[in-house]
Amino acid sequence: MSDVLTVEAMSKHYGHFRALNECTMHVPKGSIYGFIGKNGAGKTTLIRLICGLQSPTCGGYSLYGVQHTKKEIAKSRRRMGAVVETPSIYLDMTAEENLKEQYRILGLPSFRDIPKRLEMVGLGDTGRKKAKNFSLGMKQRLGIAIALCGDPDFLVLDEPINGLDPQGIIEMRELILKLNREYQITVLISSHILGELSRLATHYGFIDHGHMVKEISAKDLELSCRKCMRIEVSDSRILSCVLDKMNLEYKIFSDTQADIFAEISVSKLVLALAEKDCEVLSLREHDESLESYYVNLIGGGKDE
Ligand code: ATP
Repeated sequence: MSDVLTVEAMSKHYGHFRALNECTMHVPKGSIYGFIGKNGAGKTTLIRLICGLQSPTCGGYSLYGVQHTKKEIAKSRRRMGAVVETPSIYLDMTAEENLKEQYRILGLPSFRDIPKRLEMVGLGDTGRKKAKNFSLGMKQRLGIAIALCGDPDFLVLDEPINGLDPQGIIEMRELILKLNREYQITVLISSHILGELSRLATHYGFIDHGHMVKEISAKDLELSCRKCMRIEVSDSRILSCVLDKMNLEYKIFSDTQADIFAEISVSKLVLALAEKDCEVLSLREHDESLESYYVNLIGGGKDE
């Protein structure tokens, strides 16, 4: 799978502050790439840079194999559509009028496929309703329809599910899946809402303090998550001592529960615990969620 976007040691400094710090990224063609990081981690900064809204301080990126410093980058960028921060829509216009305006800006010769485009994002029946009367989800989808004018095959969405209600989230998820599967559009989607991304993403990139901590495919993530065993015991302090002695990687998350990230001999462990009067209440294979994977990688705590 070739990469639509490659980011190479790209940095963005504001004075002494490094909003992006030698960040790398590889977005494979055809993927839904979940770009995950806490508030302030640098997601929007990277997106603004690849959209050409700002220039990197050092390092750079290639879009469809064209380096950002080359003249031809403008052509590559036409294959990319983006909704950065809030969608840029005219609130006093209908959905159709908004698209007509975008067609004019892009110099597209005919409005003929506007109804099809509105249908594509689930806004086919909004008629004379002005965008200011749309729900947040509808506004987001209109933003996506605008980004899709000119038929890009790479779509970049910055926090598209932020603030949406559950129905809006479902509609957004279905739309992204449809664009990816039916229209073969590669999607880069930034979010700090992990659970939702795990239903969509084929690849992940985890950013922290402006730096890419890890990139991994959903398949590999699933495999690495599967190695975890969840154990419930009468006293996790004793469990901790025993696991330390056995030199096993683990994470205690309550007085009685822990996850063990290694192949273990169950009988040996149960025996070692029994010798210290610690009872095993349950032991089962556990699919480590995206959330706990993220916490292990980047650390817990609230968004900064
Ligand atoms: P969020 O989810 O909150 O949007 P983010 O991961 O998108 O977070 P960025 O918006 O990229 O984060 O911001 C990264 C850091 O850079 C933040 O600490 C932010 O305050 C800082 N930053 C962004 N733009 C500027 C600017 N123009 N001047 C100074 N600092 C900035």
